Amino acid sequence: MAKTVQGIRGMNDVLPSEAHRWAYFERTVQDWVRSYGYQAIRMPILERTELFVRSIGEVTDIVEKEMYTFTDELNGEQLTLRPEGTASCVRAAIEHNLLYPGPQRLWYWGPMFRHERPQKGRYRQFHQVGIEALGFAGPDIDAEHIVMCARLWRRLGLQDLRLELNSLGSAEARARHRTKLVAHLEKHVAVLDDDARRRMHTNPLRVLDSKNPALQDMIAAAPRLADDLDEASAEAFSALQASLRAAGIAFSVNPRLVRGLDYYNGTVFEWITDRLGAQGTVCAGGRYDGLIGQIGGKPAPACGFAMGVERLLALMAECGVAVPEDQPDAYVLRQGEAALPWAELVAETLRDAGLSAVLHCGGGSFKSQMRKADASGARYAVIIGDDEALSRMVSVKALRGGTQQAQARVSPQAACEIIKSG
Ligand code: ATP
Ligand code: MG
Repeated sequence: MAKTVQGIRGMNDVLPSEAHRWAYFERTVQDWVRSYGYQAIRMPILERTELFVRSIGEVTDIVEKEMYTFTDELNGEQLTLRPEGTASCVRAAIEHNLLYPGPQRLWYWGPMFRHERPQKGRYRQFHQVGIEALGFAGPDIDAEHIVMCARLWRRLGLQDLRLELNSLGSAEARARHRTKLVAHLEKHVAVLDDDARRRMHTNPLRVLDSKNPALQDMIAAAPRLADDLDEASAEAFSALQASLRAAGIAFSVNPRLVRGLDYYNGTVFEWITDRLGAQGTVCAGGRYDGLIGQIGGKPAPACGFAMGVERLLALMAECGVAVPEDQPDAYVLRQGEAALPWAELVAETLRDAGLSAVLHCGGGSFKSQMRKADASGARYAVIIGDDEALSRMVSVKALRGGTQQAQARVSPQAACEIIKSG
């Protein structure tokens, strides 16, 4: 036998047993974005590498070590499988002049690719739902985003999510803070690990994001961004907090929340749960007022967030959220020469009536077909032997305790009514 070809580590198949949970999630999200007036945008999965280097930042985990980058052998271009959606969304908005008529509320969803060490909740192909509000200065839109999240969590039946906020301030405030921070890091250079040493001059803020336990004391003692905030950011941040209080949304300010992508400024936030182990952040975002200008567009403020679909689905399961399985209404059994073509017509009649019908294919005794009907999860078996076929009739049997247990020889239309009513 030929050796099997396996899938790629960290890239998962969604099997039929789980697919209905994904479909339910997608439907809920589509409904939810509609209710806030966000319009869909779809971007390609491949982009020029330069887009991510210029937006996410050269000295970040994503760009330094997580991107799937290759050279297109046909023309020598450097391409990257998108590690996130914001950069592509902003690129598309600039390229197609989407902001010309005014600010835009956009959303998208799809697979993202990062070469990370696979573990529970961390994959190499994972999925994000992304929300971007381009051309909005806030803080009203920042509040909208957070209120939106809270509504989605309710709709999905999620519990135990907490909200953490921080403000990174303006680019100038960050530059001021940076000088102090570098001085602090230089003073403690002896305790720094290799990553931190490498980053202390290129991206010192990222050092504070380190999970290394040995650095935590040094991090706790580091100068705080909050003390260097510019007035406008501080005002926007407190206005946002007031809106959240008015909306009844609990939060805590985490002065160490910095986000792993360089394009953020001003308000940033994360939704975190303790129920998924180490990979507890299910949603993250904030303002990125500089990004549009940075990648060549007419400068405009913007903000957005992305949620990890796999992590949210895991939390749904953890919270015991039941999702109805998508089972057929009817399974059509058939035996005998005349029954074969008649059953095909009957199955189409059921579908014309808006029912879902699985037509038995491949022969077998009635008994074995009945086992298949049962296993399909269908509510009703529609049975067609030669008798039924000759009289252009069908017999109906409830498989899951329908109101009408069995009906011999009824018209296909009558069968539709029985199945619909039970
Ligand atoms: P982390 O700190 O967990 O690596 P991140 O800061 O890299 O997260 P973002 O780039 O902000 O993550 O992505 C937004 C969300 O997408 C995350 O909060 C998470 O829910 C999800 N996510 C990110 N990377 C992965 C991954 N490799 N596998 C599954 N979900 C992911
Ligand atoms: Mg990451």
